[in-house]
Amino acid sequence: MTDCIFCKIVSGAFNTPFVYETEDFAAFNDINPKADTHVLLVPKNHYESLNDIDDENLLGKLLMGVKLTAQKLGLKSYKTVINTGKDAGQEVFHLHIHILAGNIKGV
Ligand code: 5GP
Ligand code: ZN
Repeated sequence: MTDCIFCKIVSGAFNTPFVYETEDFAAFNDINPKADTHVLLVPKNHYESLNDIDDENLLGKLLMGVKLTAQKLGLKSYKTVINTGKDAGQEVFHLHIHILAGNIKGV
């Protein structure tokens, strides 16, 4: 999806540094952090939201990716958030998991 900002980020269009990466996922810092650490973990393939993904294997890997990203960042305590749909506060329609730690203000 060419007009999707997260597709552009994972494709390397902006040379965004990834704090964690596998062949399926990339994690990068949120541009407007709501905590001392605020990372977004996204699948490299475009899924608009959690409602649009049926691949249980990929979903399992996504959650494992949260744990491994947190480990890589040295986080022992952190919050994960997935906003699904506009009414729940989703603003970017490419599935992503927020990983937040330290002085969390909420997303
Ligand atoms: P949502 O509200 O969709 O769950 O969260 C979208 C998140 O993406 C927000 O926390 C917002 O700050 C972040 N965001 C929006 N545009 C960009 C961007 O261009 N780069 C990065 N790194 N984060 C973005
Ligand atoms: Zn996308």
